[in-house]
Amino acid sequence: MKKQYAVIGLGRFGSHLARALYEEENEVIGIDIREDKVEDLQNDLSQAFIADSTDEDSMKSLGLRNFDVVIVAIGDDMEASILTVVLLKELGVPYIVAKALSKRHGLVLTKIGADQVVFPERDMGLRLAQNLMHPNIIDQLRLSDDYSIEEIKVPSDLVGQTIQALDIRAKYQLNVIAIRHTDEEVSIAPGPDYSIKNGDLLVIIGKNKDLNELSQKLK
Ligand code: ATP
Ligand code: ATP
Ligand code: CA
Repeated sequence: MKKQYAVIGLGRFGSHLARALYEEENEVIGIDIREDKVEDLQNDLSQAFIADSTDEDSMKSLGLRNFDVVIVAIGDDMEASILTVVLLKELGVPYIVAKALSKRHGLVLTKIGADQVVFPERDMGLRLAQNLMHPNIIDQLRLSDDYSIEEIKVPSDLVGQTIQALDIRAKYQLNVIAIRHTDEEVSIAPGPDYSIKNGDLLVIIGKNKDLNELSQKLK
């Protein structure tokens, strides 16, 4: 199930992304216009190439259309980022992910055919804000504007209490759908008699406003 990825632009974002994909034993090539960036990653990826991604002949010769995913991690040079996505689209790359620095940049990337646009600075900023305000929320999956699934850390003074005693359903209209003990060990649909253990993470579904209230309460 390993895939082939090409990462264009080996700045901080692109180089960490490429390394992480390669560490999981995918085939990963890196491309950058700067020789020093390519040299830095030479031994950490399947292959790394010095090339200008806006140059049609170079991109053709790398056979990028045969990769599962190509990620355009050029940010500051918006023109290069846009031209690269257009070119990849023309070459028939099946899935293009592009990094955007601004809303407008992101809109253009979507318009010209990027399959996924990411805003790392924006998203990391929003995430950190949430994390500072709600340190006990470990992870969050937004289901809609109103509903989410959240993983909430239980404070140690509640260890030994049962789910029933927490009274989450009646007080907050929330449902505990699972309890995560470790990465491997999960209890699905715990009963009301389940008693909370040290380090348990409650996976809870419900309205965002109710989840916020509960996470404040459990702080
Ligand atoms: P980051 O924010 O990820 O650290 P950065 O700020 O160092 O990146 P960016 O301008 O976002 O730099 O570009 C990321 C990388 O993309 C740089 O290493 C740059 O050399 C490379 N790059 C820029 N233009 C091209 C291009 N036309 N072809 C190939 N690589 C390019
Ligand atoms: P980002 O990567 O978050 O988009 P950036 O690349 O535009 O940021 P940075 O150099 O990382 O710019 O600086 C972020 C912000 O910090 C900028 O708005 C800059 O004006 C401000 N800043 C930089 N140095 C100082 C300083 N010494 N005192 C106060 N503000 C500063
Ligand atoms: Ca940058």
